Amino acid sequence: MDLYSGHINKLIDELAALPGIGAKSAQRLAFHMINMPKERVERLAKSMIDAKENVRYCKECYTLTDQELCRVCSSQKRDHSTIMVVENSRDLAAYEKTGKYMGVYHVLHGAISPMLGIGPNDIRLKELMARLKGEVSEVIVATNSSLEGETTAMYIGKLIKPTGIKVTRIASGVPVGGDLEYIDEVTLLRALEGRTEL
Ligand code: ZN
Repeated sequence: MDLYSGHINKLIDELAALPGIGAKSAQRLAFHMINMPKERVERLAKSMIDAKENVRYCKECYTLTDQELCRVCSSQKRDHSTIMVVENSRDLAAYEKTGKYMGVYHVLHGAISPMLGIGPNDIRLKELMARLKGEVSEVIVATNSSLEGETTAMYIGKLIKPTGIKVTRIASGVPVGGDLEYIDEVTLLRALEGRTEL
């Protein structure tokens, strides 16, 4: 792509390397940025750097947060003995939006996928097992209903069962392969209420 100046090409390449952004969108965004007022570009760049420098993983549930403990984990109003396992922080946000779930979470940051070479050690499973040494009465596995999500759920079930802790799986009223974050609140709550033991 030598149609534009080196600087534009570099910007297009950086943008195109982001997930979900193809070559066309990258070009469109790059030209848009060049036409933006300098202050807006600086604000955008600063917000990216600030987020990168200040956002970290909650030391309890591993969701993304600005604090040592996230809002949910630091709340006394939450039931800390019920842990819902989700694939990512967006899924956590989807359940939080319902306002009905009173337990806490555990964010895996991925799902087991033999096809993509993602194994149990590549997601936050060890951290989940470590949390079970505390007072835990139930682990609700709310990974997606995709092949990866189901594989992960089965794996977690096998891992936790011997500990004697109750482990459940949300009902699959959820479309196959559907990302939790796109599913409406009613469906999410129905899936939660209809959970069954693994
Ligand atoms: Zn947390």
